Amino acid sequence: MGPALRVPGLRLEGKDAVGRSVEYHRPSSLAEACELLHQLGDAAIPLAGGTDVVVDLRRGTKAPKHLVSLADLSALRGISLSDGALTVGALVTPTQLETSQEVASTRPEFLDAVGVFGTPQVRNRATVGGNLCTAASCADLSPLLLVLNARVTVATPTGSREVPLEEFFGDHRSTVLEPGHLVSAVSVPSRAPGEGAAYEAFGLRAANSITVAGAAAYLRMEEGLCTGARVALGAVSPCPLLVPGVEEVLVGTEAGDPNLERAALAAADAAEPLSDIRGTAAHRRELVERLTVRAFQVARGRAQ
Ligand SMILES: Cc1cc2nc3c(=O)[nH]c(=O)nc-3n(C[C@H](O)[C@H](O)[C@H](O)COP(=O)(O)OP(=O)(O)OC[C@H]3O[C@@H](n4cnc5c(N)ncnc54)[C@H](O)[C@@H]3O)c2cc1C
Repeated sequence: MGPALRVPGLRLEGKDAVGRSVEYHRPSSLAEACELLHQLGDAAIPLAGGTDVVVDLRRGTKAPKHLVSLADLSALRGISLSDGALTVGALVTPTQLETSQEVASTRPEFLDAVGVFGTPQVRNRATVGGNLCTAASCADLSPLLLVLNARVTVATPTGSREVPLEEFFGDHRSTVLEPGHLVSAVSVPSRAPGEGAAYEAFGLRAANSITVAGAAAYLRMEEGLCTGARVALGAVSPCPLLVPGVEEVLVGTEAGDPNLERAALAAADAAEPLSDIRGTAAHRRELVERLTVRAFQVARGRAQ
Protein backbone atom coordinates (compact mmCIF):
# COMPACT_ATOMS: atom_id res chain seq x y z
CA MET A 1 0.00 0.00 0.00
CA GLY A 2 1.37 3.45 -0.91
CA PRO A 3 1.43 6.52 1.33
CA ALA A 4 -1.95 7.72 2.63
CA LEU A 5 -3.70 9.97 0.15
CA ARG A 6 -4.76 13.39 1.38
CA VAL A 7 -8.04 13.23 -0.49
CA PRO A 8 -11.04 11.82 1.40
CA GLY A 9 -13.75 9.69 -0.21
CA LEU A 10 -14.56 6.03 -0.66
CA ARG A 11 -11.55 3.78 -1.32
CA LEU A 12 -11.68 0.00 -1.84
CA GLU A 13 -9.20 -2.64 -2.90
CA GLY A 14 -10.14 -5.52 -5.19
CA LYS A 15 -9.41 -7.26 -8.48
CA ASP A 16 -9.90 -5.87 -11.98
CA ALA A 17 -11.66 -7.66 -14.86
CA VAL A 18 -8.79 -10.16 -15.26
CA GLY A 19 -7.85 -10.60 -11.61
CA ARG A 20 -5.10 -7.97 -11.15
CA SER A 21 -5.13 -5.96 -7.92
CA VAL A 22 -6.65 -2.54 -8.29
CA GLU A 23 -7.69 0.17 -5.86
CA TYR A 24 -11.09 1.70 -6.52
CA HIS A 25 -11.65 5.30 -5.42
CA ARG A 26 -14.91 7.20 -5.39
CA PRO A 27 -14.27 10.89 -4.68
CA SER A 28 -17.30 13.01 -3.94
CA SER A 29 -16.35 16.28 -5.64
CA LEU A 30 -14.70 17.36 -8.87
CA ALA A 31 -11.89 19.12 -6.98
CA GLU A 32 -11.15 15.94 -4.97
CA ALA A 33 -11.17 13.82 -8.12
CA CYS A 34 -8.70 16.10 -9.94
CA GLU A 35 -6.41 16.26 -6.90
CA LEU A 36 -6.49 12.47 -6.45
CA LEU A 37 -5.78 11.82 -10.15
CA HIS A 38 -2.96 14.37 -10.01
CA GLN A 39 -1.38 12.62 -6.99
CA LEU A 40 -1.72 9.14 -8.52
CA GLY A 41 -0.37 10.20 -11.93
CA ASP A 42 -0.01 7.51 -14.60
CA ALA A 43 -0.99 4.76 -12.12
CA ALA A 44 -4.65 5.84 -12.25
CA ILE A 45 -7.38 6.28 -14.82
CA PRO A 46 -10.80 7.90 -14.50
CA LEU A 47 -13.79 5.55 -14.73
CA ALA A 48 -17.07 6.92 -16.12
CA GLY A 49 -19.52 4.39 -17.64
CA GLY A 50 -16.72 1.83 -18.07
CA THR A 51 -17.86 0.65 -21.52
CA ASP A 52 -14.39 1.27 -22.94
CA VAL A 53 -12.33 0.92 -19.74
CA VAL A 54 -13.63 -2.57 -18.92
CA VAL A 55 -12.91 -3.74 -22.48
CA ASP A 56 -9.36 -2.32 -22.16
CA LEU A 57 -8.86 -4.03 -18.77
CA ARG A 58 -9.98 -7.37 -20.18
CA ARG A 59 -7.71 -7.03 -23.21
CA GLY A 60 -4.82 -5.88 -21.04
CA THR A 61 -4.38 -2.70 -23.11
CA LYS A 62 -4.80 -0.81 -19.82
CA ALA A 63 -3.60 -2.08 -16.44
CA PRO A 64 -4.04 0.78 -13.95
CA LYS A 65 -3.29 0.31 -10.26
CA HIS A 66 -6.10 2.74 -9.40
CA LEU A 67 -9.54 3.37 -10.86
CA VAL A 68 -11.06 6.73 -9.97
CA SER A 69 -14.83 6.58 -10.34
CA LEU A 70 -16.57 9.76 -11.48
CA ALA A 71 -19.99 8.41 -10.44
CA ASP A 72 -20.51 10.79 -7.48
CA LEU A 73 -19.45 13.97 -9.31
CA SER A 74 -22.76 15.80 -9.64
CA ALA A 75 -20.97 18.70 -11.36
CA LEU A 76 -20.51 16.43 -14.40
CA ARG A 77 -24.23 15.72 -14.81
CA GLY A 78 -27.01 17.61 -16.53
CA ILE A 79 -27.84 19.36 -19.79
CA SER A 80 -28.43 23.11 -19.78
CA LEU A 81 -29.09 26.00 -22.13
CA SER A 82 -27.66 29.44 -21.43
CA ASP A 83 -25.89 32.34 -23.15
CA GLY A 84 -26.63 30.89 -26.58
CA ALA A 85 -24.95 27.56 -25.83
CA LEU A 86 -26.07 24.02 -25.09
CA THR A 87 -23.87 22.53 -22.35
CA VAL A 88 -23.77 18.77 -21.83
CA GLY A 89 -22.17 17.35 -18.67
CA ALA A 90 -19.44 14.75 -19.15
CA LEU A 91 -21.51 12.06 -17.40
CA VAL A 92 -24.56 12.54 -19.63
CA THR A 93 -25.45 9.30 -21.42
CA PRO A 94 -26.65 8.89 -25.03
CA THR A 95 -30.06 7.92 -23.62
CA GLN A 96 -30.23 11.22 -21.73
CA LEU A 97 -29.33 13.12 -24.93
CA GLU A 98 -32.11 11.26 -26.72
CA THR A 99 -34.75 12.25 -24.16
CA SER A 100 -33.59 15.83 -23.45
CA GLN A 101 -35.98 18.70 -24.26
CA GLU A 102 -33.00 21.07 -24.51
CA VAL A 103 -31.32 18.87 -27.13
CA ALA A 104 -34.56 18.39 -29.08
CA SER A 105 -35.21 22.13 -29.21
CA THR A 106 -31.68 23.36 -30.01
CA ARG A 107 -29.51 20.60 -31.44
CA PRO A 108 -31.75 17.76 -32.69
CA GLU A 109 -28.90 16.52 -34.93
CA PHE A 110 -27.45 14.84 -31.80
CA LEU A 111 -30.16 12.26 -32.36
CA ASP A 112 -28.46 11.21 -35.63
CA ALA A 113 -25.42 10.07 -33.63
CA VAL A 114 -27.39 8.64 -30.71
CA GLY A 115 -29.52 6.67 -33.17
CA VAL A 116 -26.52 4.63 -34.38
CA PHE A 117 -24.86 4.36 -30.95
CA GLY A 118 -24.55 0.83 -29.55
CA THR A 119 -27.42 -1.05 -27.96
CA PRO A 120 -29.90 0.32 -25.38
CA GLN A 121 -27.70 -1.14 -22.62
CA VAL A 122 -24.61 0.68 -23.97
CA ARG A 123 -26.58 3.91 -24.50
CA ASN A 124 -27.72 3.77 -20.85
CA ARG A 125 -24.20 3.28 -19.54
CA ALA A 126 -21.79 5.12 -21.89
CA THR A 127 -21.08 8.82 -21.35
CA VAL A 128 -20.40 11.81 -23.58
CA GLY A 129 -17.15 12.55 -21.70
CA GLY A 130 -15.99 8.95 -22.11
CA ASN A 131 -16.76 9.05 -25.82
CA LEU A 132 -14.49 12.10 -26.25
CA CYS A 133 -11.73 11.05 -23.84
CA THR A 134 -11.37 7.56 -25.28
CA ALA A 135 -10.40 9.47 -28.46
CA ALA A 136 -11.31 6.57 -30.73
CA SER A 137 -11.57 7.62 -34.35
CA CYS A 138 -14.83 5.64 -34.62
CA ALA A 139 -16.53 7.43 -31.67
CA ASP A 140 -19.91 8.49 -33.01
CA LEU A 141 -20.33 11.78 -31.12
CA SER A 142 -16.96 13.30 -32.09
CA PRO A 143 -17.53 14.11 -35.81
CA LEU A 144 -20.81 15.87 -35.04
CA LEU A 145 -19.31 17.81 -32.13
CA LEU A 146 -16.39 18.83 -34.37
CA VAL A 147 -18.62 20.34 -37.08
CA LEU A 148 -20.68 22.11 -34.40
CA ASN A 149 -17.54 23.91 -33.14
CA ALA A 150 -17.77 22.27 -29.72
CA ARG A 151 -15.68 23.48 -26.78
CA VAL A 152 -14.53 21.10 -24.06
CA THR A 153 -14.37 22.25 -20.42
CA VAL A 154 -11.33 20.70 -18.74
CA ALA A 155 -11.14 20.70 -14.93
CA THR A 156 -7.65 20.62 -13.39
CA PRO A 157 -6.38 20.81 -9.78
CA THR A 158 -5.79 24.54 -10.34
CA GLY A 159 -9.06 25.46 -12.08
CA SER A 160 -10.96 24.99 -15.33
CA ARG A 161 -10.21 25.98 -18.91
CA GLU A 162 -11.95 25.63 -22.26
CA VAL A 163 -10.38 23.81 -25.20
CA PRO A 164 -11.83 23.88 -28.75
CA LEU A 165 -12.62 20.26 -29.63
CA GLU A 166 -10.53 20.53 -32.80
CA GLU A 167 -7.47 21.05 -30.53
CA PHE A 168 -8.46 18.31 -28.05
CA PHE A 169 -7.39 15.14 -29.89
CA GLY A 170 -3.78 14.06 -30.28
CA ASP A 171 -2.57 11.11 -32.33
CA HIS A 172 -4.26 7.72 -32.21
CA ARG A 173 -6.39 7.46 -29.02
CA SER A 174 -4.74 10.39 -27.25
CA THR A 175 -5.90 13.81 -26.06
CA VAL A 176 -4.40 16.95 -24.56
CA LEU A 177 -5.50 15.80 -21.06
CA GLU A 178 -2.78 15.28 -18.43
CA PRO A 179 -2.97 13.34 -15.14
CA GLY A 180 -5.32 15.29 -12.86
CA HIS A 181 -7.36 16.66 -15.76
CA LEU A 182 -11.01 15.72 -16.25
CA VAL A 183 -13.50 16.73 -18.90
CA SER A 184 -16.41 18.24 -17.01
CA ALA A 185 -18.63 19.29 -19.95
CA VAL A 186 -18.84 19.98 -23.66
CA SER A 187 -20.69 22.98 -25.14
CA VAL A 188 -21.99 23.79 -28.60
CA PRO A 189 -23.57 27.03 -29.81
CA SER A 190 -27.37 26.86 -29.98
CA ARG A 191 -28.73 26.49 -33.49
CA ALA A 192 -28.90 29.82 -35.36
CA PRO A 193 -31.34 30.56 -38.23
CA GLY A 194 -30.07 29.17 -41.54
CA GLU A 195 -27.91 26.47 -39.91
CA GLY A 196 -28.22 22.74 -40.43
CA ALA A 197 -26.08 19.77 -39.47
CA ALA A 198 -26.31 16.00 -39.77
CA TYR A 199 -24.38 12.80 -39.04
CA GLU A 200 -24.45 9.69 -41.23
CA ALA A 201 -22.69 6.45 -40.37
CA PHE A 202 -22.28 3.00 -41.86
CA GLY A 203 -21.94 0.08 -39.47
CA LEU A 204 -22.51 -3.65 -39.18
CA ARG A 205 -25.11 -3.22 -36.46
CA ALA A 206 -26.33 -6.82 -36.66
CA ALA A 207 -23.08 -7.70 -34.91
CA ASN A 208 -23.31 -4.69 -32.53
CA SER A 209 -19.99 -3.54 -33.90
CA ILE A 210 -18.58 -0.05 -34.06
CA THR A 211 -18.95 2.37 -36.98
CA VAL A 212 -17.08 1.41 -40.18
CA ALA A 213 -17.12 5.01 -41.45
CA GLY A 214 -19.00 8.13 -40.39
CA ALA A 215 -19.40 11.69 -41.68
CA ALA A 216 -20.88 14.79 -40.06
CA ALA A 217 -21.68 17.89 -42.10
CA TYR A 218 -22.63 21.45 -41.19
CA LEU A 219 -24.01 24.18 -43.48
CA ARG A 220 -24.99 27.79 -42.87
CA MET A 221 -27.22 29.31 -45.57
CA GLU A 222 -28.13 33.01 -45.90
CA GLU A 223 -30.42 34.28 -48.67
CA GLY A 224 -29.89 31.08 -50.63
CA LEU A 225 -26.09 31.13 -50.46
CA CYS A 226 -23.75 29.07 -48.31
CA THR A 227 -21.84 31.17 -45.75
CA GLY A 228 -20.32 28.34 -43.70
CA ALA A 229 -19.51 24.65 -44.19
CA ARG A 230 -17.68 21.96 -42.21
CA VAL A 231 -17.18 18.20 -42.51
CA ALA A 232 -15.74 15.81 -39.93
CA LEU A 233 -15.07 12.11 -40.36
CA GLY A 234 -15.02 9.10 -38.08
CA ALA A 235 -13.25 5.71 -38.33
CA VAL A 236 -11.06 6.70 -41.28
CA SER A 237 -8.08 8.40 -39.59
CA PRO A 238 -6.04 7.98 -36.37
CA CYS A 239 -8.44 10.30 -34.52
CA PRO A 240 -11.72 12.07 -35.43
CA LEU A 241 -10.85 14.30 -38.39
CA LEU A 242 -12.06 17.82 -39.23
CA VAL A 243 -11.60 18.00 -43.02
CA PRO A 244 -9.71 21.10 -44.22
CA GLY A 245 -10.69 23.10 -47.31
CA VAL A 246 -14.44 22.39 -47.38
CA GLU A 247 -15.44 26.06 -46.97
CA GLU A 248 -13.44 26.94 -50.09
CA VAL A 249 -15.57 24.54 -52.13
CA LEU A 250 -18.98 25.55 -50.80
CA VAL A 251 -19.02 29.11 -49.45
CA GLY A 252 -20.64 31.51 -51.95
CA THR A 253 -22.45 28.70 -53.79
CA GLU A 254 -26.06 27.55 -53.47
CA ALA A 255 -24.76 24.26 -52.04
CA GLY A 256 -26.33 22.32 -54.91
CA ASP A 257 -25.63 18.61 -55.36
CA PRO A 258 -22.65 19.03 -57.76
CA ASN A 259 -20.86 21.24 -55.21
CA LEU A 260 -21.76 18.90 -52.35
CA GLU A 261 -20.20 16.08 -54.38
CA ARG A 262 -17.02 18.15 -54.87
CA ALA A 263 -16.85 18.74 -51.11
CA ALA A 264 -17.37 15.01 -50.54
CA LEU A 265 -14.43 14.25 -52.85
CA ALA A 266 -12.27 16.58 -50.72
CA ALA A 267 -13.41 14.61 -47.65
CA ALA A 268 -12.55 11.27 -49.29
CA ASP A 269 -9.11 12.68 -50.23
CA ALA A 270 -8.47 13.79 -46.63
CA ALA A 271 -9.42 10.38 -45.17
CA GLU A 272 -6.61 8.01 -44.15
CA PRO A 273 -8.56 4.75 -43.87
CA LEU A 274 -7.09 1.39 -42.90
CA SER A 275 -8.25 -2.06 -43.93
CA ASP A 276 -9.47 -4.22 -41.04
CA ILE A 277 -12.01 -6.89 -40.19
CA ARG A 278 -14.90 -4.42 -40.69
CA GLY A 279 -13.96 -3.16 -44.17
CA THR A 280 -11.20 -2.36 -46.63
CA ALA A 281 -9.57 1.05 -46.99
CA ALA A 282 -11.05 1.42 -50.49
CA HIS A 283 -14.55 0.61 -49.24
CA ARG A 284 -14.19 3.13 -46.41
CA ARG A 285 -13.04 5.88 -48.80
CA GLU A 286 -16.06 5.23 -51.00
CA LEU A 287 -18.31 5.27 -47.92
CA VAL A 288 -16.86 8.63 -46.86
CA GLU A 289 -17.80 10.16 -50.20
CA ARG A 290 -21.38 8.88 -50.10
CA LEU A 291 -21.97 9.52 -46.41
CA THR A 292 -20.64 13.08 -46.76
CA VAL A 293 -23.02 13.87 -49.64
CA ARG A 294 -25.91 12.37 -47.68
CA ALA A 295 -25.03 14.28 -44.49
CA PHE A 296 -24.77 17.54 -46.48
CA GLN A 297 -28.14 16.92 -48.13
CA VAL A 298 -29.81 16.37 -44.76
CA ALA A 299 -28.01 19.42 -43.31
CA ARG A 300 -29.17 21.53 -46.28
CA GLY A 301 -32.78 20.44 -45.70
CA ARG A 302 -32.48 21.38 -42.02
CA ALA A 303 -30.91 24.74 -42.86
CA GLN A 304 -34.09 25.94 -44.63
C1 LIG B 1 -20.82 -3.29 -27.00
C2 LIG B 1 -20.30 -1.89 -27.22
C3 LIG B 1 -20.83 -1.13 -28.25
C4 LIG B 1 -20.35 0.17 -28.47
N1 LIG B 1 -20.90 0.90 -29.49
C5 LIG B 1 -20.47 2.17 -29.69
C6 LIG B 1 -21.04 2.96 -30.72
O1 LIG B 1 -21.93 2.52 -31.47
N2 LIG B 1 -20.57 4.22 -30.90
C7 LIG B 1 -19.58 4.74 -30.10
O2 LIG B 1 -19.19 5.89 -30.30
N3 LIG B 1 -19.02 4.01 -29.12
C8 LIG B 1 -19.44 2.74 -28.88
N4 LIG B 1 -18.87 2.00 -27.88
C9 LIG B 1 -17.75 2.56 -27.11
C10 LIG B 1 -18.16 3.24 -25.78
O3 LIG B 1 -19.43 2.84 -25.35
C11 LIG B 1 -18.14 4.78 -25.91
O4 LIG B 1 -16.88 5.26 -26.32
C12 LIG B 1 -18.56 5.47 -24.60
O5 LIG B 1 -19.03 6.77 -24.88
C13 LIG B 1 -17.46 5.55 -23.56
O6 LIG B 1 -18.00 6.17 -22.42
P1 LIG B 1 -17.79 5.55 -20.96
O7 LIG B 1 -18.43 6.47 -20.00
O8 LIG B 1 -18.22 4.14 -20.90
O9 LIG B 1 -16.21 5.68 -20.86
P2 LIG B 1 -15.20 4.86 -19.94
O10 LIG B 1 -15.04 3.48 -20.45
O11 LIG B 1 -15.53 5.01 -18.50
O12 LIG B 1 -13.88 5.73 -20.23
C14 LIG B 1 -13.31 5.80 -21.53
C15 LIG B 1 -11.99 6.58 -21.45
O13 LIG B 1 -12.23 7.94 -21.16
C16 LIG B 1 -11.65 8.31 -19.89
N5 LIG B 1 -12.66 9.19 -19.28
C17 LIG B 1 -13.99 8.93 -19.14
N6 LIG B 1 -14.63 10.02 -18.69
C18 LIG B 1 -13.68 10.99 -18.55
C19 LIG B 1 -13.74 12.36 -18.13
N7 LIG B 1 -14.89 12.97 -17.79
N8 LIG B 1 -12.59 13.07 -18.12
C20 LIG B 1 -11.40 12.49 -18.48
N9 LIG B 1 -11.30 11.21 -18.88
C21 LIG B 1 -12.43 10.47 -18.91
C22 LIG B 1 -11.39 7.01 -19.16
O14 LIG B 1 -10.30 7.11 -18.27
C23 LIG B 1 -11.06 6.09 -20.33
O15 LIG B 1 -9.74 6.29 -20.76
C24 LIG B 1 -19.33 0.71 -27.63
C25 LIG B 1 -18.81 -0.07 -26.58
C26 LIG B 1 -19.29 -1.35 -26.37
C27 LIG B 1 -18.72 -2.16 -25.23
